[in-house]
Amino acid sequence: MKCNNCGKGMKYFKGMKFNEYSIDGWKCSCGEIYYDPEQAQKVLLLNKLKKEVLKAKLGKIRSNLILRLPKDLEHAFNLEKGESVLIKVESNGFRIVPA
Ligand SMILES: [Zn+2]
Repeated sequence: MKCNNCGKGMKYFKGMKFNEYSIDGWKCSCGEIYYDPEQAQKVLLLNKLKKEVLKAKLGKIRSNLILRLPKDLEHAFNLEKGESVLIKVESNGFRIVPA
């Protein structure tokens, strides 16, 4: 990766601070920083989602209720079909946490 500012080669760093998350990216000796675009996008998406209350619809397949999660959640947490999540029951509802 070359720096757009000074043209020097940039070094790859892991776990740089980006908002309250740490993501990977490139740093230049001139101070220029490029964040991994895919990781940065996820952080921005997470920040956006944290400000919202998401609505999900329940479906039914045979006798099982199916919870349909919004696409944004799927992307923000890298969720995939067949994957397990943890469900924690609380007094006024429940919380779903990626396993
Ligand atoms: Zn530079």
